[in-house]
Amino acid sequence: MKLQNTYLNLPSIFYQKVNPSPVAEPKLVVFNEALAKELGLDVVQMKSAPEVFSGNKIVPGSIPIAQAYAGHQFGHLNILGDGRAHLLGEIIDAQGQRWDMQLKGSGLTPFSRGGDGRAALGPMLREYIISEAMHALGIPTTRSLAVVTTGETVDRDTRLPGAILTRIAASHIRVGTFEFAAVKGGVEAVKALADYSISRHYPELINSSKMYLAFLNSVIRSQALLIAKWMNVGFIHGVMNTDNMTISGETIDYGPCAFLDEYDLSKVFSSIDQRGRYAFGNQPLIAQWNLARLAETLIPLLDDDQKVSIKLAEEAIVSFFGLFQKFHLQGQCAKLGFEKIYPEDAKLIQQLFQCMTQAKADYTMIFRALTEEKLHQHVEFQQWMKSWEQRVQAEGLSIADAVKIMKKNNPVVIPRNHFVEEALKEASVNYNYAPIEALAKILKEPFKETSENTKFRESQPGHSLHFQTFCGT
Ligand code: AMP
Ligand code: MG
Repeated sequence: MKLQNTYLNLPSIFYQKVNPSPVAEPKLVVFNEALAKELGLDVVQMKSAPEVFSGNKIVPGSIPIAQAYAGHQFGHLNILGDGRAHLLGEIIDAQGQRWDMQLKGSGLTPFSRGGDGRAALGPMLREYIISEAMHALGIPTTRSLAVVTTGETVDRDTRLPGAILTRIAASHIRVGTFEFAAVKGGVEAVKALADYSISRHYPELINSSKMYLAFLNSVIRSQALLIAKWMNVGFIHGVMNTDNMTISGETIDYGPCAFLDEYDLSKVFSSIDQRGRYAFGNQPLIAQWNLARLAETLIPLLDDDQKVSIKLAEEAIVSFFGLFQKFHLQGQCAKLGFEKIYPEDAKLIQQLFQCMTQAKADYTMIFRALTEEKLHQHVEFQQWMKSWEQRVQAEGLSIADAVKIMKKNNPVVIPRNHFVEEALKEASVNYNYAPIEALAKILKEPFKETSENTKFRESQPGHSLHFQTFCGT
């Protein structure tokens, strides 16, 4: 493994060179062999190198940095930066794709503010499990390569085992990185960051006319697709601050996130989101709000005439909803077993959501019941089922044809809150990693019915009503 450091070509305000702080006794507790292979890493060597995944040993070519960024946190702009993460460098896979390799929980940086620079085992394993589950569900996301325990404890409400996650990402450039550039560096810094982002994530735009507008539109499109995928699988991010939204369109920063049990647009899982800013149904609106913050930073680059720039930015932001709705509808039609998309489908889908709300039905299980031809057993859905059957026939499909499509688009298993929490507890309290490994294995094939995953399909009735995830990560 030899790392590169193209991020260091940016103006120096964008990072601080700082090494991870060594830990007492690094021990590899989870390792993602499949991802390691995709990255072209030597699996045997990596598995016997916990010191690499703790930052005790700096690998060849690595120049560790903490990245600078800002962020609108619950609507308020703050200057942040990696307070407990180190970007080790970039790795190029066999396809020539560049990936960031970052340690999270690896010690103090100049951006640590009041924090300790560390992370607890539970939250790092949580990010590992959920990010890998998202990947298997076909949702763009940062990945997790490894978790090591540190042999040290961290002080939260109680003392907890410390851990470090190795995160792989298309990049860690956030909407908040652009906000940082605009506030601290001005137009030249924003331009440098935009040029870097374009070459890394949207190289097809290089030399296009109105390149920065095309860049803004591409990020808007990537995010519209991402949020549609979240909504269609029932994922609640929990902290959609602008520092937790990527330019690449990958899901990032798994803190108080969760999957929906009961279908409920107002559902909030995070204990600190008391006003429901980041509620399930608010996610598209918040994404658009965040993208408006990105657009503001790009205004000086969109046109020489500021008035024209503002108009272009506004048009771009307004376009988010149409794109979101298009991607959302595409996803829902696939979940319902349709090959084509008819304009009336949006109404049929809304009706289904209404039935789910009335029935307090588990979102994932309803789609699965439909796929398994069991939904008509539920009285709340009988009327709707008739419309659905007619719609399938209108396209010239048989129910069997539709079922085939549905099976590919409706997961059997998702990372259900109670199973995730159980497995995390077993790891954090008893240092027993077998349940986490079993869960990770099952979540690798979320669309397949297997005898192993039977137990993991069930939602626990009533569980979601009292369930909260906590932010003290
Ligand atoms: P997050 O809530 O994980 O998205 O983090 C928001 C900001 O707080 C980022 O700048 C983090 O680097 C920083 N942060 C979170 N936890 C810690 C910690 N334990 N020590 C230092 N900085 C932290
Ligand atoms: Mg964050």
